[in-house]
Amino acid sequence: MAYKPNLNIPDLYARFASPICEQDCGDICRQYNPSGKPFCCDICVAVPVALKEEWAYLKTNTKLWHRLRGDECPCDPIDKEKMQAETPNYMHLMACLGPAHCEREYRTLSCRQFPFSPYITADDRLIGLTYNWDFEQVCWVISNLAQVSDQYRREFLDIYDQLLFEHPSEYDSYYWLSEDMREHFIKKRRRIPVLHRDGNTYLLSPKTDRLTRVSPDSLPKFGPYR
Ligand code: SF4
Ligand code: SF4
Repeated sequence: MAYKPNLNIPDLYARFASPICEQDCGDICRQYNPSGKPFCCDICVAVPVALKEEWAYLKTNTKLWHRLRGDECPCDPIDKEKMQAETPNYMHLMACLGPAHCEREYRTLSCRQFPFSPYITADDRLIGLTYNWDFEQVCWVISNLAQVSDQYRREFLDIYDQLLFEHPSEYDSYYWLSEDMREHFIKKRRRIPVLHRDGNTYLLSPKTDRLTRVSPDSLPKFGPYR
């Protein structure tokens, strides 16, 4: 019989509700998006996902979400079939009513974690948070990692320690994402920024997972945030 994770979605949402930082980062980054929306809330830029358990909870509690149709981006149809093929079968591609209608308590885990993901070392340790490098040029948070609150970091790790234990397929998915990140950063001859579970910030060698402690203020800034 297939393994079925035992996830209590309202409990996960309640425990992972703190904002990333004091600033309203969406108000900052939206100035640089021609649509005027925060980049991570613009369906033309980022398509959210939800665990099937999240969708079962959300569809009975809010009208905020629907399963992705593919026609939600007015300027450019979304290639739903291609995205579906790249999405694990325990997830749904989703679309919301947009930032003007956001209901914070019904944000998916993918909204809450953005731009971060758990970083898992080559020898299988979830040591902290790293970010989605595809968004370096647009996401203000990535250029301001010093602003990420300790509370957000703690909540993120508390949730993902549980989620990745309960849901081994999610663990595998983040393991391979971390592996992709190592390959990408090796090619770029860069080190990976990690907000570590010990509270410090490190640059990690993608070849060896060796950590060098740094001041978060010294990390690079990108795009318009330089
Ligand atoms: S997380 Fe990044 S992309 Fe999303 S609203 Fe904040 S700055 Fe913008
Ligand atoms: S639910 Fe809110 S946070 Fe999530 S994508 Fe929609 S507007 Fe953004």
